[in-house]
Amino acid sequence: MKKIAKITRKENGHWVGDGFPVRTLFSYHHDGAAVSPFLLLDYAGPLEFAPADAPRGVGFHPHRGFETVTIAYQGEVDHRDTAGHSGTIRPGEVQWMTAARGVLHEEMHSAEFTRKGGVFEAVQLWVNLPAADKMTDPRYQALTLDTIPVVPVDGGTVRVIAGDYHGTKGPAHSVTPVNLWDIALKAGGKLALNVPAGHSAMLLAMRGPVRINGQEIAGSGELAQFEPNGTHIDIEAVGDAALLFMGGEPIGEPIAGYGPFVMNTQAEIEQAIADFETGKF
Ligand code: MN
Repeated sequence: MKKIAKITRKENGHWVGDGFPVRTLFSYHHDGAAVSPFLLLDYAGPLEFAPADAPRGVGFHPHRGFETVTIAYQGEVDHRDTAGHSGTIRPGEVQWMTAARGVLHEEMHSAEFTRKGGVFEAVQLWVNLPAADKMTDPRYQALTLDTIPVVPVDGGTVRVIAGDYHGTKGPAHSVTPVNLWDIALKAGGKLALNVPAGHSAMLLAMRGPVRINGQEIAGSGELAQFEPNGTHIDIEAVGDAALLFMGGEPIGEPIAGYGPFVMNTQAEIEQAIADFETGKF
């Protein structure tokens, strides 16, 4: 059994730009190596937006040294970056952006969502890169619905975004081993997750509650973080549940971070700031 290390129940929210009302449910600032290879999880919404004339969101900003993984659940995100990529992330779709040595991008509500309004709900996960990959070329993977396999389970489904779920492989190419599973369970549904020994593991309950390992309960908007030892997690949906499982092999390297830059040393952070200020992104 993989024991629960803690459950994060209440986090104060903040806004990213004027489009994304997020709660940061884990971050390397607070959780350090325990969440490696991940750096941060922002859960946005669910929140109702009124129709508007101008798209809400966050304008051009840099990233260096890691990957941003955006999953839209309700509403749509339009993005553009300086590596020449643009598109719309629709409900159920995933954008896996490898910022590596650096991109500037903007993330906005789509034109249609802005015009119609509605409920917005999304996740953004930051995945760290090992030192050898931090200054490689930026890359970009747009994972549409038809590319993400859906595995039927007792009382629900598991969509395999990255990694391997009982032999079904996800389409995302991660640099280090990562499992990212998007889970839907009807009330009463049960699921046994097998996780490689030594991997970090976090379970976000977007809808719940769920009973974990026969005891602890995680409700809507709560996050369970597991200990590195153990390979088995039992989940039982108490109510209709929507869950995101994140796990991976820890990257055993020092972390130096400042805002949108996450490197290994302070000197590399100062270089990132200097490169940004002199227009090298
Ligand atoms: Mn960004």
